[in-house]
Amino acid sequence: MDCLKETRVGNVLSGWNHLSVVGPINVQNTAGARVQLSSGEWRDDYIMGWGSCLLGHDSPVIKNSILKALERGFLQQYETDEHRLLSERFCAVVPCAEKLRLVNSGLEATMYATRIARAVTGRRIIIKFEGHFHGLNDSLTWNVDSSPRSGALLAGRELERLSGTVGIPDEFGNLTVSVSWNDLEALENAFEKYKDDVAGVILEPVALNIGCIRPDEGFLQNVRALTSRKGALLIFDEVLTGFRANIGGAQKDFGVVPDIAAFGKAFGCGMPIAGIAGKAEYMDVIAPRGPVQVSGTNTGRYLSVSAALAAIEHLQDGTVHRHIAALESRLKAGLRDVFDKHHIPCHIDGYGGRIGVHIGTSERPRTMREIEHFYPIDFAQKLFALLSREYNLYGFLMPLSYCPEPVTLSASHTTEMLADACERLDSALKRVQYHAK
Ligand code: PLP
Repeated sequence: MDCLKETRVGNVLSGWNHLSVVGPINVQNTAGARVQLSSGEWRDDYIMGWGSCLLGHDSPVIKNSILKALERGFLQQYETDEHRLLSERFCAVVPCAEKLRLVNSGLEATMYATRIARAVTGRRIIIKFEGHFHGLNDSLTWNVDSSPRSGALLAGRELERLSGTVGIPDEFGNLTVSVSWNDLEALENAFEKYKDDVAGVILEPVALNIGCIRPDEGFLQNVRALTSRKGALLIFDEVLTGFRANIGGAQKDFGVVPDIAAFGKAFGCGMPIAGIAGKAEYMDVIAPRGPVQVSGTNTGRYLSVSAALAAIEHLQDGTVHRHIAALESRLKAGLRDVFDKHHIPCHIDGYGGRIGVHIGTSERPRTMREIEHFYPIDFAQKLFALLSREYNLYGFLMPLSYCPEPVTLSASHTTEMLADACERLDSALKRVQYHAK
């Protein structure tokens, strides 16, 4: 298309819909776990609204809740019984949640979570882990997959600070300290160095933005103990992990309760809604109980609240999560067989129906640096392009800058679709030569 006539930047109105390598696609319809292009062709979807469409693209549970809600008008910026019910249901199932406040996006939820940590403690520094992505906040978009590379190890194992986007002045990162995931010593050193100025530690309990890297055994427990000892708040960013593996979040799975947690994505199952939840003593710094402002014109919109309430009620008995866990096991085994057949080393792990395939190493990587070291990006891009263009798979085994984006499942995927995806992968691998990095 002629660039001068382009009215959408890169022909997308919404940032990351321009997938690397394949470019944007024009979709006319969705059903289950499939998308129909304007050409009429269907593709099997393995992005699923960046992990938000847990129940599929056209779940009757979500659709009916929206249709019913619409009968009452938009109810924009009014509190209803459903708002109360949603917070009650949410706080009954999420371990850290004594109170909930709604916002629109994961970006807002993590931004406010750090604001709360700073307000509660009166301190300034937030420690984060390299590769953990918390939305495009100016103060948190540091040392992520879109940074130019992994940060060099500095004295005390702190990482060189590297912005994840152009346009954020260095000064905005001065209050953010990055350390490697699973590096407890670096975290302890950072607490030592910044002494009484650490307001909080934010992390993804399973690092899904660099594939799928779980915490080392006991790591989360150690971070919990350290933050408590130092009087800093522990913030779990559950925007990706939340509601995907069970209804209580990764905090329930790992038995570690943070002080504050951010939720988004699957919380609304495709509708825009996010939340900040935590212990009452911390949440009560938010206005009108306290002095911290957390608000916005579109926060807590009724349609989204209705969808989130319907989703939470639907997920309650665990059937959906058991189904997704079974699909995840099935696909992991299928992928393992195909990669083994082609003698391509890889580490495969999954959480909540999101499967990271770490090509290039059979060992479990523990940090972003290790992934960057092994992940054969050229090969991954060629494979992804082929799978997208010729095998009708959307977002399957997509590479990011130097880490893999997880393959995302939903309740609408079927075992037939997964078997099919593995067959197509097998066929594609006969056409792309694997080279270790
Ligand atoms: N936190 C995590 C862990 C995420 O993966 C993302 C987005 O991918 C965000 C926060 C930001 O959420 P949103 O895209 O809703 O702003």
